[in-house]
Amino acid sequence: MNTPLIGICGGGIGGLAAAIALRKLGQRVVVFEQAPQFARVGADINLTPNAVRALDGLGVGDALRETAARPAFRISRDGYTGEETSRLAMSSAAEEKYGAPQLTMHRADLLTALEAAVPADCIKLGKKAVRIEQVDGKVRLDFADGSSETVDALVGADGIHSVVRTAMLGPEQPQFTGVVAYRAVVPADRLVGCVDLDCFTKWWGDRPEVQVVSFPLNQGKDIFIFATTPQPEWQLESWTAPGDVAELKEIYSDFHADARARLNACTEVLKSALYIRDPLPHWYQGNLVLLGDAAHPMMPFMAQGAGQAVEDAVVLARCIAEPSFDSLQQAWTAYQNARLERTSRIQIASRSNTWLKEGGNADWVYDYDAWSAPLK
Ligand SMILES: Cc1cc2nc3c(=O)[nH]c(=O)nc-3n(C[C@H](O)[C@H](O)[C@H](O)COP(=O)(O)OP(=O)(O)OC[C@H]3O[C@@H](n4cnc5c(N)ncnc54)[C@H](O)[C@@H]3O)c2cc1C
Repeated sequence: MNTPLIGICGGGIGGLAAAIALRKLGQRVVVFEQAPQFARVGADINLTPNAVRALDGLGVGDALRETAARPAFRISRDGYTGEETSRLAMSSAAEEKYGAPQLTMHRADLLTALEAAVPADCIKLGKKAVRIEQVDGKVRLDFADGSSETVDALVGADGIHSVVRTAMLGPEQPQFTGVVAYRAVVPADRLVGCVDLDCFTKWWGDRPEVQVVSFPLNQGKDIFIFATTPQPEWQLESWTAPGDVAELKEIYSDFHADARARLNACTEVLKSALYIRDPLPHWYQGNLVLLGDAAHPMMPFMAQGAGQAVEDAVVLARCIAEPSFDSLQQAWTAYQNARLERTSRIQIASRSNTWLKEGGNADWVYDYDAWSAPLK
């Protein structure tokens, strides 16, 4: 087939990863991002070995390693007694086993590395898509600024509130889970005496939604704290809304001293309600196709949302560039066959928050290589 112009709606983690992968495989691409400029929002991102392996293949791994931390172990503990219930060796052990380590970093550092790998003339900022229409085998986008663009096919990488998804399936609101997440970053030197600061540690509460997680950022100079709890009255979804530090400390006041020591060091915290959707039966229609949160938003309990978006991006690019496919429809079918089952399984598993709570084998998630996974 001739090289089509692939539009990508959304320049987040999945959209930028798709742009890099498509260009690497010789495709023509243009990204439409609603934000007028890329900003440093969000606190952390925990990238498990499967995600890092996919990002290494995009050529951004070295840039990520400049600021990322490499947690030594992934530890689960009882939230109240501190008793250890699971421990996986990460860092070099994960690198040997899965071909990549776990990396934890500021979310903005990931986005900066991805953005730097896409030529500026492939990204159109300030383009908020408000209407998507398939006309004569092409896709037309109308933007909030009154302009329009036409592409041969459009990848919906526009997150949980995707307009591309709405164009395909009609309006349907994400579901509020009744759970909120707190996120805070604390300088490590405020936590002198705390154990396992170089590890990913999760303290599990008495209900699945109640947990405190800690891991290093910024090559260990900062410690990230993530905590979740049911709170049905708070429904604001935001990367930047402040929470109440006193409330955070109060909620986990019966947690083990090691978890509380981290919370007590927080001076500010962000708070967001968590939303999800159910797995979809199909991800494409005509020349529209979905990836990342637009296709499968999930609870953050397995830390797989961004990882799955990057895996999608790589596999989708491979399908579009596959010389034995003679139409985009074949590419979409192969992409969906390769990805839908895995992401749906992770989407469902993420809801129960039991991943690696006791012992466990992470291989089915971590030992996935998006660059060589078979295209069925
Ligand atoms: C609290 C929390 C913690 C998380 N922690 C982790 C973690 O540690 N590890 C992990 O792997 N995942 C994590 N996730 C999940 C992860 O953040 C998402 O899965 C990931 O960001 C999805 O990437 P995406 O590119 O699909 O969507 P998004 O990151 O939402 O990006 C969508 C992009 O599209 C743009 N856009 C939206 N609408 C339009 C429009 N109409 N026109 C043009 N552009 C548009 C947006 O501005 C944005 O740039 C977490 C999620 C939450 C809520």
